[in-house]
Amino acid sequence: MNKNLFRTKKYATSKIYRSRPQDRLGPEEEKPNVPQGIMTKCPACGNIIYTKLLLKNMKICECGYYFKVSAYERLAMVMDEDTFVETDQQLTTRDPLNFPGYADKLVKTQNATGLVDGLVTGKGSICGITVYIGVMDAAFFMGSMGTVIGEKLTRLFERATKEKLPVIIFTASGGARMQEGIFSLMQMAKVSGAASRHSEAGLLYITVLTDPTTGGVTASFAMLGDIILAEPGALIGFAGPRVIEQTIGQKLPEGFQRSEFLLEHGFVDMIVTRDKMRETLGALLKLHYKENPRYFANPADKPSNIIEENTENTNDNSETDKP
Ligand SMILES: [Zn+2]
Repeated sequence: MNKNLFRTKKYATSKIYRSRPQDRLGPEEEKPNVPQGIMTKCPACGNIIYTKLLLKNMKICECGYYFKVSAYERLAMVMDEDTFVETDQQLTTRDPLNFPGYADKLVKTQNATGLVDGLVTGKGSICGITVYIGVMDAAFFMGSMGTVIGEKLTRLFERATKEKLPVIIFTASGGARMQEGIFSLMQMAKVSGAASRHSEAGLLYITVLTDPTTGGVTASFAMLGDIILAEPGALIGFAGPRVIEQTIGQKLPEGFQRSEFLLEHGFVDMIVTRDKMRETLGALLKLHYKENPRYFANPADKPSNIIEENTENTNDNSETDKP
């Protein structure tokens, strides 16, 4: 009996405090969940690419294939250097349903990915303009949304509303986290509510849909952006194409649920290639800062002054809280 008690205690410790993502930002080769070698094979064209070169090219193959990027890689691609401050980094789930095997799988995934859950949130600047940003990571339980992601996003929107700042969210998700059942589904309403209060305050919200964005994430905050961008060729939808085909007994049109199809049908505002993402976000932010004086504490301030002002009151986040 004592033995069991000890084992449980050990878990609780490692679950909450073990993986600190900032300690694991080393070169690609050091991360356990990616190919160990110095070369990477493209699944689309079969070319063997020097891994470092691939990273330099924002993980885009010469053939145009987009390799998946981790949340921290994505942040490195779009944020101004050394401006990102992470919020709620240690927030972890309580496994509300005691779902069989979930706690074990969580610890394994945390150790393999260096993430505490499937979303990294924080504050920083893009092209000189301060934003709150959230980036989902599909490597963590398929980027599925459970209580932690819901809570982190809600806090992100609430902080942004309080500080009158725009929100940018990169989505990558298989949907709701089935191991947390109804608690996962509740997050759709909770995050949407927070996004709506942010919107009522007249603030800008941009979503960037990356491959794949599906299920409850599509059905809630992913599609609520004032501006919805997407990476080329990303799978975006509610149910997957196979499930729809099986349900309606019909073959779906070619390219169905890909970014380009959604752009044509008005669900997406613009497809932005990965190498142009940072400047596009910067341009959109600047456009809104210029046109909308509400974003400014003092309308006469330049964006560069705003950053200094806002970085002073960032530390109101309680890092070890649980949802
Ligand atoms: Zn290729």
